[in-house]
Amino acid sequence: MIYEGYFESAGPQLVDDILASRPVPDHVRADGTATDAVVPIAPPAVPGMLELSRGCGKGCDFCPMGAQRMEHVAPETILADLATNVAGGQTSAVSGSEDFFRYGGTGSKVNFEALRSLVERMGRIGGLRFMQIDHANISSVLQMSVEELREIRRLLRFERDVKHLWVNMGIETASPRLLRSTSPGKAAPFALDDWEQMVRDAAGRIDEAGFFPVFSIVLGLPGETPDDVTRTLKLMRDLDRRPVVIFPIFYEPLPRPGHETHRPFSLETLTPAHLELYATCYEINFRRVPPLFWDNQRAGGVSWVRRTMLQLLGRAEMRMWRKEFKRLGKRLGPG
Ligand code: SF4
Repeated sequence: MIYEGYFESAGPQLVDDILASRPVPDHVRADGTATDAVVPIAPPAVPGMLELSRGCGKGCDFCPMGAQRMEHVAPETILADLATNVAGGQTSAVSGSEDFFRYGGTGSKVNFEALRSLVERMGRIGGLRFMQIDHANISSVLQMSVEELREIRRLLRFERDVKHLWVNMGIETASPRLLRSTSPGKAAPFALDDWEQMVRDAAGRIDEAGFFPVFSIVLGLPGETPDDVTRTLKLMRDLDRRPVVIFPIFYEPLPRPGHETHRPFSLETLTPAHLELYATCYEINFRRVPPLFWDNQRAGGVSWVRRTMLQLLGRAEMRMWRKEFKRLGKRLGPG
């Protein structure tokens, strides 16, 4: 059986049906976030996962959260979960949210006070070394001032501060046209046409506030043209002026009505321009990821010996990637 969605939506009824030997469908797609039904966890979550919000609602058609309106877990439940994790020996937390900075907000709007209050109360529980932010949105970062972001950064300094507290944010593409057709709500409440400048501004603002931006782009979005790839490459080179990491990922369509003609991106559809974009992002990452990992692992309590081993393994991986880029370049020929 395949179950798509949040467990509290249809899971309890499904389990009842299975236990009572009633027939159940092969594929369940449960709607809604069922946030009201979330209760505090009993045993600690691994690896310190702390669910803050569910859904997203930004409309990206390659993401299961695109059509799921964002709703937030009650602060009391989050704090109870954190206390359980800490009591169970979890000294670091990972924020479970598609958009950390939108905690407590409505629709695309942020709610600075709700977020500030939550993080402050988390700090009062004690025993937490640091929290890794999972995802955030460029449009949410831009709704907060540098001072507000700095305040959140200050409150996130729990018992062991990290130098580079990274935040994952999806750029997807530099092309507003492509974004309009695949991620129509991405820039809201701002205008999609300003997307490239929004990305640059968010990189600057989050960096000034003391976070480290980790971006992602998607290669092979439906309707992508060579101009879109070139435009995205130019934006990545602009971003490289700041401390950033950029992960290119291959487009994978969701099995949804209307996506029948969408094709996954693969090495077979890779063009020389895609390869240049991909390799450019990786060269940026080869310079920036090792110190980022070193710092985060140190804050997470990983020993010096283990960190050194992982860095050496990382260097071997870099050599392997560069060889692979050369091999692919030869196979594809000049663009
Ligand atoms: S902004 Fe991110 S989480 Fe939200 S729908 Fe788009 S890809 Fe999914």
